[in-house]
Amino acid sequence: MNAEQQGKKFLASVAHYFDKAAALTPHPEGLLNQIKICNSVYSFQFPIRTGDGYKTITAWRAEHSHHKLPVKGGIRYSEEASADEVVALASLMTYKCAVVDVPFGGAKGAVKINPKDHSRSELEQITRRYTAELIKKNFIGPAIDVPAPDYGTGAREMSWIADTYLAFHPEQIDALGCVTGKTVSQGGIRGRNEATGLGVFYGLREVCDNAEDMKEIGLEKGIEGKTVVVQGLGNVGYHAAKFCQEGGARIIAFAEYEGAIYDENGINLEDLMHHRKETGSILNFPNAKNLDRREDALEIECDILIPAALENQITAENAPRVKAKIIGEGANGPITANAEDILQEKGIMVVPDIYLNAGGVTVSYFEWLKNLSHVRFGRMEKRFEQGTFDRLLQLIEKETGRKLTREERNLVARGADEADLVYSGLEETMISSYQQIREILKQKKEVGTLRTAAFINALNKIAVCYAELGIFP
Ligand code: NAD
Repeated sequence: MNAEQQGKKFLASVAHYFDKAAALTPHPEGLLNQIKICNSVYSFQFPIRTGDGYKTITAWRAEHSHHKLPVKGGIRYSEEASADEVVALASLMTYKCAVVDVPFGGAKGAVKINPKDHSRSELEQITRRYTAELIKKNFIGPAIDVPAPDYGTGAREMSWIADTYLAFHPEQIDALGCVTGKTVSQGGIRGRNEATGLGVFYGLREVCDNAEDMKEIGLEKGIEGKTVVVQGLGNVGYHAAKFCQEGGARIIAFAEYEGAIYDENGINLEDLMHHRKETGSILNFPNAKNLDRREDALEIECDILIPAALENQITAENAPRVKAKIIGEGANGPITANAEDILQEKGIMVVPDIYLNAGGVTVSYFEWLKNLSHVRFGRMEKRFEQGTFDRLLQLIEKETGRKLTREERNLVARGADEADLVYSGLEETMISSYQQIREILKQKKEVGTLRTAAFINALNKIAVCYAELGIFP
């Protein structure tokens, strides 16, 4: 299947999920259509100069919904990108923001390149030129459209975007808020790099902490001791694996572009990253078995499967062979609509992308707030809080006659810094958003899946926005 066909399939899956949820809401058809359609797609080409002469690059930016501004969503660098894929991803952003109460509309961008085929300076040229094209059409700005990292991009590209935008708009005091996921020195926020993977962990931990739900799928309560398989060791997959491992889960298999490995006793993530750096591959890792095909990892018996690479990975073809009890969608759209029905019949619990990987946009929202307020979180109150706790401890020492050790004192008398606040804001978001979705799932039998519940939650919140504007009753 070529990139365009993959994109079509992805868009059709998103439309199917939307329709299924929409049918269970009381909202009028006109409103549902308004929410579903993509408001604007900018599709464009630009030339870059490479060592072999000029090359034309194809790129997109889709703004799915303007019910809240700015719109927000990552920029993907991928050879497999297509217009339909970008629209599907932009629409998922709209629903995702609503699910986690981030006050943005949804957007997404893509540049059709394989970053590995380009030098650092070519990537800089492409990123700056892409940004300039967005500026020309008013498709970027702190109040308009705020990109972020996605597949194939990271903090370096986001910093180039911010720098380019600033060069065009030196008079805008809030210009740094035109993009999130920047390096900290360029106005980024501590905790953004790991935010999506950390959110995946917080979400899965919350799911596993419900004894009643776990019993239904034959699992014990708690993430500790759960066996996990991770597909994709990039930003999302690496951090999801890291936090799951630190939380006591055992990662028994990893899949990457070059292949997949399995060890039932568990694979140490940092040792594996070191091995990959040394050898250029995850294959031939000591004590682990190389699997025949990288896709085989998806079919391993485990408690939790985390697809964190790309869309359309679990299809009607391989879904019957998936043996995980829970699938946590780190990637966007890794399960096709046909596959979802098969997984549901098999009793597999799917924790959907529009909830589970929303940690990235949540912390991006915190970064945007930081850029608009021009002050680091915790800067004003950290020392004050520490002093208050300290005075309280002194009183306790006086009353009890016991002197606290330095460790005990440090544990309590500490003011929150930026990273503490970001982590706690993210944790609260992932916990409360899951409870909202679970509640909807439990209310009506017809809802059936957490995905449908998450879509219903998103549609209800967006419908309120339109109703309050008086556009739809
Ligand atoms: P990334 O580029 O950092 O990493 C993706 C990894 O997947 C790469 O290492 C790549 O080699 C690997 N990969 C590609 N195809 C594979 C395959 N068939 N099998 C195994 N591995 C494969 O990208 P990322 O930012 O981690 O994004 C991954 C997914 O998560 C995407 O769907 C993206 O849209 C989604 N997502 C990312 C963020 C974010 O903050 N970065 C936020 C929300 C959702």
